[in-house]
Amino acid sequence: KPVIIIVVGMAGSGKTTFLHRLVCHTQASNIRGYVVNLDPAVMTLPFGANIDIRDTVKYKEVMKQFNLGPNGGILTSLNLFATKFDEVISVIEKRADQLDYVLVDTPGQIEIFTWSASGAIITEAFASTFPTVVTYVVDTPRSASPVTFMSNMLYACSILYKTRLPLVLAFNKTDVAQHEFALEWMEDFEAFQAAIKSDTTYTSTLTESLSLSLDEFYRNLRSVGVSAISGAGMNEFFKAIEASADEFMENYKADLDKRR
Ligand code: GDP
Ligand code: MG
Repeated sequence: KPVIIIVVGMAGSGKTTFLHRLVCHTQASNIRGYVVNLDPAVMTLPFGANIDIRDTVKYKEVMKQFNLGPNGGILTSLNLFATKFDEVISVIEKRADQLDYVLVDTPGQIEIFTWSASGAIITEAFASTFPTVVTYVVDTPRSASPVTFMSNMLYACSILYKTRLPLVLAFNKTDVAQHEFALEWMEDFEAFQAAIKSDTTYTSTLTESLSLSLDEFYRNLRSVGVSAISGAGMNEFFKAIEASADEFMENYKADLDKRR
């Protein structure tokens, strides 16, 4: 069975570019990939999608028809698509023997996927049929300050608890900024505290107590540094995905079946 990789992350973190990189890597390494685009508003995709929400739902027309702004248009398009998602699942199931990974791109604005009913329906539909892993793409250069780093990690944390799926953090854009500082902050609580103390723009008491709770969260995930532009970190990324897929089969599958 193929492993589903759902790519989420803040707008501009590099999801689409990263997906393109994954497509190139799989093609070059004889890994059999299948690509699903769930962003109805993307103008041009750098990769060919096997299943594209834009073939089914015309986001501009949805905006007009329901008199919506851009975000409402994207959300409604995703809702419309979610009602037919069983068809997407059965298309993938028919090809399951010939696939190693299904790569899923999500709308630019993260909350449209992670905090919507349709996002939850789509995630559940995948996870109830295939081993499913969520990849949270982090804009590494933009997470260099301890406070933005922490808010980014809190967001990732909320996704872990909401989806209850294995999570891989992909620290992207390592061609611009290395991600070692992030690893250090995640591994060494005191190093992070010291970084916070040196940031005088915020009152640090809240941040300090929040970072304590994040410690537990960090133990529940895998993180890798990648560059969607240079292609660095691809092998490590797929190793993390494989380990997460095993974890899915061991822990999450039983939990999902129980909740159903
Ligand atoms: P999305 O909104 O998350 O899908 O982000 P995009 O893939 O559209 O990328 C947003 C911007 O970040 C674009 O200008 C990309 O060229 C840039 N970008 C993405 N990945 C990388 C990377 O690994 N390194 C660098 N330097 N820029 C990147
Ligand atoms: Mg995108």
